[in-house]
Amino acid sequence: MAGAAHAQAAPVVDENDAQAKALGYAADSTKVDAKKYPKHASTQLCSNCTLYSGKAGEASGPCGIFPGKHVAAKGWCSAYVKKA
Ligand code: SF4
Repeated sequence: MAGAAHAQAAPVVDENDAQAKALGYAADSTKVDAKKYPKHASTQLCSNCTLYSGKAGEASGPCGIFPGKHVAAKGWCSAYVKKA
């Protein structure tokens, strides 16, 4: 048999989804509204958030807050918690 089963890529969270909007999710952390989220810093990325379980170097990965979907590694939302 040729190769292992190919995992289907999960759909990426849309910034305009109701839940994404409620959390202030942005696929690009540098585009987060600083007035609305004063505690946000552009060094805060999904890829260094404790809820992110994507692999290093991949463009997107799973997030505990968005089951069944992927968030952008460079993304951000207001539930961000720095990975310890
Ligand atoms: S909880 Fe963390 S990984 Fe999930 S979208 Fe928000 S910042 Fe990104």
